[in-house]
Amino acid sequence: MKSYSSPKETGGVHNFNAGPSILPKEVFEEASQSVLNYNDTGLSILEIGHRTPVFQSIMDEARALIKELMQLDDDHEVLFLHGGASTQFMQVPMNLLNEKETAAFADTGIWSAKAIKEAKLFGNVDIVCTSKESGYTFIPKDFAVPNDAKYFHITTNNTIYGTQWQKIPNVSIPMVADMSSDILSRQINFNSFDLIYAGAQKNIGAAGVNLVVVNKNILGKVKRAIPTIMDYRNHIKEGSMLNTPPVFAVYVSMLTLRWLKNMGGVSAMEKLNNEKAALLYNEIDNNPLFTGTVAKEDRSKMNVCFTINDKEHEEKFLAFVKQHNIIGIKGHRTAGGFRASLYNALPLTSVQVLVEVMKDFVAKLS
Ligand SMILES: *Cc1c(COP(=O)(O)O)cnc(C)c1O
Repeated sequence: MKSYSSPKETGGVHNFNAGPSILPKEVFEEASQSVLNYNDTGLSILEIGHRTPVFQSIMDEARALIKELMQLDDDHEVLFLHGGASTQFMQVPMNLLNEKETAAFADTGIWSAKAIKEAKLFGNVDIVCTSKESGYTFIPKDFAVPNDAKYFHITTNNTIYGTQWQKIPNVSIPMVADMSSDILSRQINFNSFDLIYAGAQKNIGAAGVNLVVVNKNILGKVKRAIPTIMDYRNHIKEGSMLNTPPVFAVYVSMLTLRWLKNMGGVSAMEKLNNEKAALLYNEIDNNPLFTGTVAKEDRSKMNVCFTINDKEHEEKFLAFVKQHNIIGIKGHRTAGGFRASLYNALPLTSVQVLVEVMKDFVAKLS
């Protein structure tokens, strides 16, 4: 197993951005080389036709790596589509939900709420649980999902608030998940979902492509006419090459997936992600100046949200971390406070530096 690049190798900057976000240094190097000359073809990756054997093998490898890393069975198809996760908010109900049918949703944040809004354009929505009243600071526990709903949709990790489903609910109807911000970060039985989608720009690769994993058996059951480009079955039939795919974004994803496999796959990532999150939460809990913002048992290992106890110090702290080349920890504009995103490619050393800086900051004040 390779070791993480040191922050020196990442240009000395500790990048805690929420998305687009840090990717492995090795991926940046190889991708930039390929922009100039892909694999000694004398051509840039940006000028290679998508129907050529060169790109076909990139697409094939990316799809195969997803299948392998997620340990998907033969029913689950892998697609790389345009439009980001936000397009899936409407594409999912368009393909799965008839007008008179109901989809069940857990409302655990802004992204869930946006998925709910789009689903209402296609059928009925039953919000079976919500943590909205508390500012989305926890994952609801006691709720029932009706057996006659068409599917149950969850957002596995709530990027803005820093909550994460630690236990995937066990329901008798098909599960659909937005995994944009924690895909491939921990071991999950991915086959237990009938549809998974994730914008690539948080944990998989460059912005501009969206991963969709779909159980082909749930398709073809709605009555409405689906526009060709929106119908998953057409993309499956064409091997995710129905039209020109986002070539460069797929390529960067493939390189990141290769890196992930070299690192030891999802189980190795989970171990490192647990270590990074434990280190930072431990500091938040023990440093008198900081407070975690969500229920402890629901804390995200990808997006760590916290506040400073004296609002007056907020700007000073941001300036202080900046001096130490820590970037991207200002909280989302709707949530405030701080958010440190610890995606797969973020080295443990960056978290160690952040923790040291938090200690130094409080020491300086006293
Ligand atoms: C970032 C994010 C989205 C939006 O992704 P886009 O690719 O910008 O559409 C949706 N859901 C979650 C959970 C996210 O973190």
